[in-house]
Amino acid sequence: MSRFLSDRLSGLEPYVPGEQPKDGSILVKLNTNESPFPPSEKAVAAVAEEGKNMRLYSDPNGTALKEKLSQVYGLDPCCFVLANGSDEILDFAFQAFADDLHPAAFPDVTYGFYPVFARKYGIPYREIPLKDDFTLDPENYIGTGETLFIANPNAPTGIALERQVLERIISSNPDHVVVVDEAYVDFGGESCIELVNKFDNLLVTRTYSKSRSMAGARLGFGACCPELARDLESVRNSTNPYNVNRMTLAAGAAALDDEAYTKKCCAEIIRVRDKTAKELQTLGFSVLPSSANFLFVKNPKISGADLYAALRRRGILVRHFSLPRIEDFNRVTVGTAEQMKIFLDNVKQILEEIKK
Ligand SMILES: *Cc1c(COP(=O)(O)O)cnc(C)c1O
Repeated sequence: MSRFLSDRLSGLEPYVPGEQPKDGSILVKLNTNESPFPPSEKAVAAVAEEGKNMRLYSDPNGTALKEKLSQVYGLDPCCFVLANGSDEILDFAFQAFADDLHPAAFPDVTYGFYPVFARKYGIPYREIPLKDDFTLDPENYIGTGETLFIANPNAPTGIALERQVLERIISSNPDHVVVVDEAYVDFGGESCIELVNKFDNLLVTRTYSKSRSMAGARLGFGACCPELARDLESVRNSTNPYNVNRMTLAAGAAALDDEAYTKKCCAEIIRVRDKTAKELQTLGFSVLPSSANFLFVKNPKISGADLYAALRRRGILVRHFSLPRIEDFNRVTVGTAEQMKIFLDNVKQILEEIKK
């Protein structure tokens, strides 16, 4: 820390993203829930074409993309807020809708960025323990008087909640915003996006990073009633009106012309996920029921840290969190069938070795 850093930021504890290895030692990268499939060819072509116009600023309102989103999701264009990844929408939401009078609350085991945002803005927050099996007890979220952040499906567990349960939580907190983070919903969750027209306190966040194979493009959006959208827009326009660049705006719209491709990729991930889960169970792993593009797994014969390290030595990268309650687990992104075969073969070999 330099002697110049503002006191306000002296306690900042930044989010630590998963490793993006550059040394060529990693053969199979299953640590940050990226898609193993390329983005839509239409999106790639749109980036090349739009690149020719990059001397000009991007459309600060993202009008063309919002029109497309409106058609796909059946909401008015003014219900969408565009951002540089859904992380940015979440950042705006913490700024806009949480403070001393509206403290934040979220599960104790969830996306690690939520407490980082809360601390950055000095927002009081409460972590609500999940049950022993990592499911969420809805009763803990009824009428709490807090701004709620719920990832559905949850990360890093992969466990999904039914829409009906979220609807109860949303309707029981009419004076507080409920943010439903649907980063993984395309892999088998029930979306709440259709509830946006019914509840003025609901913000759904979505990302192109996972199901649309566009993590590097940085595109996410919020869907909410027009009043909430206006609040988020005023935060966005007070930060960076050009937060989404031209190429990404064009790619985002083009990808929506290729929904069949996205559906096909998601169906394949789901197939490989369920097959991999079964095989891991055969090897003695407990596997949490996943509705996402990753599996959260542990094996009584080897610690989470040791399995992570052994896989890493073999060129396979998964994610391990040294955190209470989940340090025994590894989070394994679902890759292609070929990648998962390599992963499983290596896991088998590691388990054989520790038997000796
Ligand atoms: C990946 C992820 C995000 C954000 O992804 P972006 O790349 O910033 O769009 C948000 N929430 C959860 C739970 C995630 O796992």
